[in-house]
Amino acid sequence: MVGWPGLSSGPLRLFLPRRACILATMAQSEESTIPTVGIVGAGQLARMTCQAAIPLGVRVRLLAERSDDAAALICPNVTLGSPASRADLAAFAATCDVVTFDHELVDAAALADLEAGGHRLAPSAATVALAQDKRRQRAELGAAGFPVPPHRPIDGMDDLLGFAAEHGWPIVAKATRGGYDGRGVWVLDGPDAARHLLARADSAGMDLLMETWVPIERELAVLVARRPGGEAIAYPVAETVQRDGICREMVAPAPVPSDLAAAAETLALGVAAAAGTVGVLAVELFVSGGRLVLNEIAARPHNSAHYTIEGCVTSQFEQHLRAVLDWPLGSTDLVAPAAVTINVLGGEDAADPATRLPDALAVPGAHVHLYGKAARPGRKLGHVTALGATVGAARERAARAAEALAGRAAVRA
Ligand code: ADP
Repeated sequence: MVGWPGLSSGPLRLFLPRRACILATMAQSEESTIPTVGIVGAGQLARMTCQAAIPLGVRVRLLAERSDDAAALICPNVTLGSPASRADLAAFAATCDVVTFDHELVDAAALADLEAGGHRLAPSAATVALAQDKRRQRAELGAAGFPVPPHRPIDGMDDLLGFAAEHGWPIVAKATRGGYDGRGVWVLDGPDAARHLLARADSAGMDLLMETWVPIERELAVLVARRPGGEAIAYPVAETVQRDGICREMVAPAPVPSDLAAAAETLALGVAAAAGTVGVLAVELFVSGGRLVLNEIAARPHNSAHYTIEGCVTSQFEQHLRAVLDWPLGSTDLVAPAAVTINVLGGEDAADPATRLPDALAVPGAHVHLYGKAARPGRKLGHVTALGATVGAARERAARAAEALAGRAAVRA
């Protein structure tokens, strides 16, 4: 409470201290009420989080490896450093109210030390450690009762042959850490392929796990936001369409029966609670035989939920900020019957899609996002979202704009 000295005195004596007091209070509140969220990593997820921070008046600080990282290009508060360096992480955390992450490639032990030193991380070091290790996810979330496929660590050829004898070929082998966009996932159709992979893994010093090959009918993703006290909310279930291990398209709501969608949301909320996450967490699922199978989690904003930027009342990026700052969560309702997002990947010609932007912008209702990244074949360079009365209508618009960015269709008048 602010005291008002001299209230019973004359007007002049009242005015001067009061004005001084107001100014002092404003200065103090500016200092204390604008929180600084630190993001380790400066890719497109951090870039879109910076964008969401603007209307909230939240200050974002980045730990970027390079000054031309997607988010470093647009954020005024960038510290150059490595997420693998304890010293860089500690110096960075000292400048932030809460530290969050653009990716999982961080030393979890270093994060635990930061927490022990009193820094606030959201998600915690323990959640990051779980999210960065597929073997632990299978073991711990399976033990907690979530529906994971049969799985085992691979320590040698005997393990593989024993697992195949039990479950049959093909077997899916995965790098325990560091995989993305299907890099680090191998479908082994027999002992020769298994031997070949083991030799590669040995020379690369890569840990592997194996699991049964799941006949997938659809792939789904559910984004959950969770506050430190455990209050959590799920977004509508999205379908993710993959090609060559890379997610190409997201459709919300997923075209699945309502009971399956509700079960997916419940499962995802359960996983987020089990992981103890704070912030948003994406839960990737398979539908197989009409049932849900848990694939993997990511404890950060996620590509599968980019549709929330235009498609939901609260975008995943704003929601992440709200959750990590322990502020009230926003509505996750869709604002249209359907939202479709299509990823823009670098083509073989490595042409920059930005050069074709006017063609994409000529498509009415197409929301184009380009990440400012150098074009390379297969690299995620942006995405396009369109809303519609039906999935078909939304997809048609998004696809037209995405094709235009890829140079496959000229739509400019
Ligand atoms: P990444 O972390 O690289 O995204 P994922 O574990 O999500 O790797 O696997 C990439 C893709 O491989 C999945 O989207 C799915 O299409 C396929 N996949 C993964 N695990 C299995 C499995 N057990 N059975 C069948 N296909 C799988």
